Amino acid sequence: MENNRKVRIVMYHYTRDLVHSRYPNIKGMDFPLFKEQLEFFKKNYNVISMEELLAAANENLDLPENALALTFDDGYIDNYTFAFPLLQELKLTASFYITGKTFAKHELLDVNKIHYILASTDIKRIVPDLKKKLDFYRGREYDYPTNEELWQTYAVDGKYDKKDVVFVKKLLQTVLPEDLRNIISSELFSDYLGVTEEQLAYELYMTENQVRVLKNNGMFIGLHGYDHYWLGNLEKEHMEKDLEAALEIMDEFIDRDNWVMNYPYGSYNQDVLDFVVKKGAKLGLTTEVRVADLNKDNKLLLPRFDCNDFPPKSENYKNF
Ligand SMILES: [Zn+2]
Repeated sequence: MENNRKVRIVMYHYTRDLVHSRYPNIKGMDFPLFKEQLEFFKKNYNVISMEELLAAANENLDLPENALALTFDDGYIDNYTFAFPLLQELKLTASFYITGKTFAKHELLDVNKIHYILASTDIKRIVPDLKKKLDFYRGREYDYPTNEELWQTYAVDGKYDKKDVVFVKKLLQTVLPEDLRNIISSELFSDYLGVTEEQLAYELYMTENQVRVLKNNGMFIGLHGYDHYWLGNLEKEHMEKDLEAALEIMDEFIDRDNWVMNYPYGSYNQDVLDFVVKKGAKLGLTTEVRVADLNKDNKLLLPRFDCNDFPPKSENYKNF
């Protein structure tokens, strides 16, 4: 009989009571739906811990039938205040991937600046404001194509987002030079949000002590980079420096010989894989959507489902 080494790994980001929150348009899992989803998982799957998955990978062990693992990215405080108590109540375990900088420095990550810009303001206002800023900075220290050319290239409908949202995300996440991306994101943030970045960072991310509480209560803590960079796009030295910084700041929470890497944005290349292995990673998590199979998959590149692929959000999981 064939071994069973298949697992569905589910990815979460924000988990909060959206209706009663300050930014109800943030793209997160609303708490009542989250609760329903965990009950669905408990009823239909064997929810396994990341330690069990590591052991299965390292020692060639089988997994239970219908194995499923829960993962939370980015270290959001709402994972601590909403998800963690419910996990405890339902006697479920999960893993949390913390971006080093969030609790080391309480600075807002670019990825979150962009989420909050998009959640706070109509996209029909954001696009022209962004274009104005592009015109302002073009030809100063920075050189990039005209707004028409940028729009032609990057305004394309995505899996989850319409083209104007894709345009804003692409430009502010990868297309513009890094320091200009930071400048423009911060300007838009301050124009729209009405709170400082630091204030929001304190509201948004778990503190070191909260991460400690998770770990002391049986949750698994893994790595998600230091600066939340697209690691696959960085120069090798820069990528290594980012991961070294992450390892150092997360030292208390991880086993240096047996840790799990969760690539920000699912971005990696061969250098990234070589480096994390050299540093003791035994599993890696991507954003490719399908069932993971320890018999067939590269253990450093395990695919994951998005939480929106399962009930009560959708039945997409049946197609993978
Ligand atoms: Zn992330």
